[in-house]
Amino acid sequence: MSTIESITLMLALVYSISLLYWSKQKWGAAISGVLLGSALLMTLHWPLFVGLVVALVAVTMLNKFQPALAQGGAAAGESSRGNNKANQLREMIRHLLALSMLLVGVQFAINSAMLKAGVDPILVRPDIGDAFLPIAGGIELKAILGLGLWDKNHPSAAVMLVVVLLTGLLCKRAFCGWACPLGLAGDYLYALRKKFIKQEFAPPAWLDWILRMLKYLLMAALILLVFTMPLASIPHYLDGYYHKVADLKMALFFLKPTIISLICFSIILGIAAWKKQGFCRYICPYGAFLGLLSFLSPFKIRRTTEQCLIEGKGMKCDKCTRACPANIIIHTQTTIRSDECQACMKCISACPKQEALHFSTRWGTKMSARGLTILLLSLLFMIPLWAYVGGFWHGETPTEIRMMLIQHLGSIGH
Ligand code: SF4
Ligand code: SF4
Repeated sequence: MSTIESITLMLALVYSISLLYWSKQKWGAAISGVLLGSALLMTLHWPLFVGLVVALVAVTMLNKFQPALAQGGAAAGESSRGNNKANQLREMIRHLLALSMLLVGVQFAINSAMLKAGVDPILVRPDIGDAFLPIAGGIELKAILGLGLWDKNHPSAAVMLVVVLLTGLLCKRAFCGWACPLGLAGDYLYALRKKFIKQEFAPPAWLDWILRMLKYLLMAALILLVFTMPLASIPHYLDGYYHKVADLKMALFFLKPTIISLICFSIILGIAAWKKQGFCRYICPYGAFLGLLSFLSPFKIRRTTEQCLIEGKGMKCDKCTRACPANIIIHTQTTIRSDECQACMKCISACPKQEALHFSTRWGTKMSARGLTILLLSLLFMIPLWAYVGGFWHGETPTEIRMMLIQHLGSIGH
């Protein structure tokens, strides 16, 4: 595990343990602390210890200068409404994760450039980059389930696929709203466009529906690709040159685009700039998969009608609906089942009435912004840490092989 990965992982886990502590979940904090400590002792991997020191200093400083954020904030943590603390917490998480991915990208670029130059890389390849190989991850999962075969080249692709899908199963599309760096980039692109062209482009409902189905078509195509791959051919694929450099092939796809892919990129960027969350809403196949799984999520946004100003006081109100970046009509529903809900909790923050809106289960168990942060960070980082301990994280493709293959990248096919 590279130093950047280790620091990010320790920051996320120490922060989530600290949030557990501040939310008085002392047992949860103790169990997480034991899990973290045991993993550290089992690996004795020095970057993780560097990460631990950085994380302890960072969380202590945050607690000193921004106690509300460090502790999840009373407002952000317990009720998530009435102020911006929940949004601040979400924005902090999104930006820190995006920064970490950016640094990982730089490290990957340096590693690849040195491989291409025929020099032994001074920086190791960050395995977390394999999170961008969902098809490889799907094939690896098929190999594990169908053949009991564990991939040695990009095992973290399968780990991250499982982790991200688990988030969808447990807490709607919170991964999209709280963690995805592409979603964040889309938000910035949209904000930039709004600076120059103020007009809001809202497609009619029928066109919006058709466009939303586009991501499901892409998702179906990707799933079909994995499902139709004969089980017997998977060992050969996993051992082949293409899979060994699947990450480099992916990078090459973006660095040396064909005319067709350039047109596709332009359309995608145009959609992201044109419509708020346009990429997540219309294009992202990962988001589509999470959207489908999110129907099973026990946690959903729920409106308690007796507490709502509409039914409770006979007043007019649609603040929750107007706050929703996913254009979901909230104020007329009691349970938001929409596959577009990213659990951003903006509707809860916008609601003037305590207890009217919650992210909760049908049995009444509520999850605050702080609780969601803890759940997400634990899933996104504790599982990879234990995958690393179990030897199912680090790609073992020899450097010499990658150095040789990168020289012929353009001609390597499936
Ligand atoms: S504002 Fe509420 S309903 Fe809309 S996406 Fe965010 S959490 Fe879901
Ligand atoms: S913002 Fe709150 S009070 Fe207003 S309609 Fe939505 S749930 Fe009801």
